[in-house]
Amino acid sequence: SSSSSSSSRRNFSQKSTMSIRYDFKDKVVLVTGSSSGIGEGIAIHLSSLGANITITGRNVERLKRVGERCRQSSLSSSSSAKVLEIIGDVSKEEDAARLLNKTIETFGKLDVLVNNAGAYQIASIWDDNYMQNYDMMFHINVRSVVHLTKLAIPYLAKTHGNIVNVSSVSAQKPAANNTLYAMSKAAIDMFTKSMALELGPKHIRCNAINPAAIRTPIFNKVKNSDLNTDRMAEAAALSYPVGRIGEPLDCANAVAYLASDAASFINGVCLLVDGGSVNSALIMPEGDSKK
Ligand code: NDP
Repeated sequence: SSSSSSSSRRNFSQKSTMSIRYDFKDKVVLVTGSSSGIGEGIAIHLSSLGANITITGRNVERLKRVGERCRQSSLSSSSSAKVLEIIGDVSKEEDAARLLNKTIETFGKLDVLVNNAGAYQIASIWDDNYMQNYDMMFHINVRSVVHLTKLAIPYLAKTHGNIVNVSSVSAQKPAANNTLYAMSKAAIDMFTKSMALELGPKHIRCNAINPAAIRTPIFNKVKNSDLNTDRMAEAAALSYPVGRIGEPLDCANAVAYLASDAASFINGVCLLVDGGSVNSALIMPEGDSKK
């Protein structure tokens, strides 16, 4: 029996080594919120890995620019992957349906759905427009994700595909004036973990990434605040264990892994992409460790 157990160990290691593959050739990936920031980074990176990509957002000019960068990225890695640009508001049901239908019309299938589009706003419970902010963030960050996922599931079942949601460290760590955004992302974590159970038997995996501060324009869009991306980067450099803010490519690398066949046994994971920052709120004064 010792020889049978050693041979099964050998088989096991051989299998897992052989199945590691970050190859998206002939795969079709839909990335929401890909006209900017993290979604842009994911789209460009997956194009370089050979994926056919649908990119989408509301801003025509920015989406065109990202489309060009995806095509260049695909060319420079000698892949012949295609890029489809679709203007739309993912929070509108008819736009979400069109997004999916056009993707299927063009590429014939869907392998990966990346639910990345999202909105961020600082909001205090003392604000008069608190409930407007609630509606805005829950609509785009939660409802549109659930809706697009529901539409995509029949296609993902055919390809044994997978979903990657872009959540946030905020889902796991409360902060004053960040309640609504954090609640919306906590909903995404639970959606991710629950979908992993519900869709696993249909051969659809569902995972999430939970980024800390990433250098994107999102902080410049926050209303009634002097927060901006440069200030965020400075703060991150001081307080994050790795001494820097994250970059879109940090997220794109994590998404590429989760969406690839190399992660075929990873299901229901909410992967921190945070440079260790979630666990590092307490900064000990210098010299304390010597006591
Ligand atoms: P950006 O503001 O740079 O990009 C947001 C993207 O979402 C844009 O492409 C925007 O497109 C799109 N979008 C927003 N609302 C809608 C809508 N109603 N319909 C269609 N598209 C929409 O932000 P990030 O790249 O930073 O954020 C991407 C995701 O990452 C979000 O879910 C965010 O919560 C999350 N995140 C970001 C972190 C960060 O530090 N940057 C940290 C943790 C999570 P357009 O304007 O063209 O419509």
